Amino acid sequence: MLDRLTVLAHALGEGRWMFRERAALERHQERLAAEHLRWVAAHSPYTAERFQQSTLSVGQWRDLPPISKPEMMGNFDRLNTAGLPLKTVLEVARRAEVTRDFTPTLSTPSGEMTVGLSSGTSGTQGVFLVSRAERLQWAGAVLRWLLPPPWPASLLKRQRVAFVLRAEGQLYRSVSGSRLQFQFLDLLRPVPELAADLSAAHPTLLAGPPSVLRALLDAGADAHPARVVSVAEVLEDDDRAALEAGFGPVVQVYQATEGLLALPCPHGHLHLNEAHVHFDFEALPGGYQRPIITDLRRRAQPMIRHRLDDVLLLAEGGGCTCGLASRRIERVVGRQDDALNLPSSAGTRLTVWPDFVRAAMNTAAGLREYRAEQTDAAHLQLSLEPDTVSTRTAAARELRAALDRLGVGAVTLSFSPLLADPLGTKRRRVRQRWTPSRPHGAD
Ligand SMILES: [Zn+2]
Repeated sequence: MLDRLTVLAHALGEGRWMFRERAALERHQERLAAEHLRWVAAHSPYTAERFQQSTLSVGQWRDLPPISKPEMMGNFDRLNTAGLPLKTVLEVARRAEVTRDFTPTLSTPSGEMTVGLSSGTSGTQGVFLVSRAERLQWAGAVLRWLLPPPWPASLLKRQRVAFVLRAEGQLYRSVSGSRLQFQFLDLLRPVPELAADLSAAHPTLLAGPPSVLRALLDAGADAHPARVVSVAEVLEDDDRAALEAGFGPVVQVYQATEGLLALPCPHGHLHLNEAHVHFDFEALPGGYQRPIITDLRRRAQPMIRHRLDDVLLLAEGGGCTCGLASRRIERVVGRQDDALNLPSSAGTRLTVWPDFVRAAMNTAAGLREYRAEQTDAAHLQLSLEPDTVSTRTAAARELRAALDRLGVGAVTLSFSPLLADPLGTKRRRVRQRWTPSRPHGAD
């Protein structure tokens, strides 16, 4: 009951942080940062060491050299402020995945901690650690941004929220009440069963990975929520169109083990969660950006100048019709490590973003599903559904035309059967599987 009131208080309070003036938002960030960075430097030995090694004061945090997931995991024991060894956190998180019982938490001198694993399918697997207070604040923010407008009328209406998730969202159990009900559909269960459960739930809000929601729609799920929320995967245009036609208006949440990074505004656009997280960006070829985040609230597992693997396209000019001052994401393009690296016609190497390949494949006539993988320096392997002479011809033609426009040189194509992804893994249609034997520059 107390948890529920706390979440609702956070949800109501969230309105204070929805700044309409950029200068006010930045002042708010500065205020939070000054206090938060001091606290983290005093309680996280690894963070203190980063400042010492770079001979920077805490006030100069924006100049701190960024770290990524491998450094975070490698120094986890001294990075977290709850005194938890990585080994213990991994044991608890992995046990929860296996038993599908996501209730266990870890008791620490700093209070009860919820732990979890990232669902990354390659590279370093991440863990997250959140305190009870952080969990309730996170739930409040999500609630405030996700319930369909107008606010707060939407909170007074009866809401049935259906989440299709890989790991059950303990976060939301505490919020359940008579007006606000949550139903969790474990996406490791068979699709026909899930589709029937979803139809029976009559959700007013439906959230899940777009590939799974699409599979449920194709399996005959009948639901007409006020909002469909795409989480955990890149939302592609074909899925968006199908989900909007079948279920209702689609918005996105951009959330990772690294934090709650972007949320949909009343006009349905994806805004950076700048009231709680500070974003810097590294420019990538083609106008794309890679975020370096500093979470201004998380204490148990601080995220200070943390470089994400994601590639984003920010909206031009940054503004939005909703009037909020936080910047807008045009597209979450995918992961940096899925970028293809192909020979240019001039003999150099070119970076080709997954987004670009997806756009080409989406125009191939008759193609329902596909995977495109780079398996060698100048080789792409395509898996198509349906796999016919005509889809192969169309896919090869569209892809080649798109690569020509970019100035990509000779690339060979091969075709292999499309195998189903293991249950519960994130769908990634475009993948980089080739590791160059020596370093090379992109572009
Ligand atoms: Zn907006």
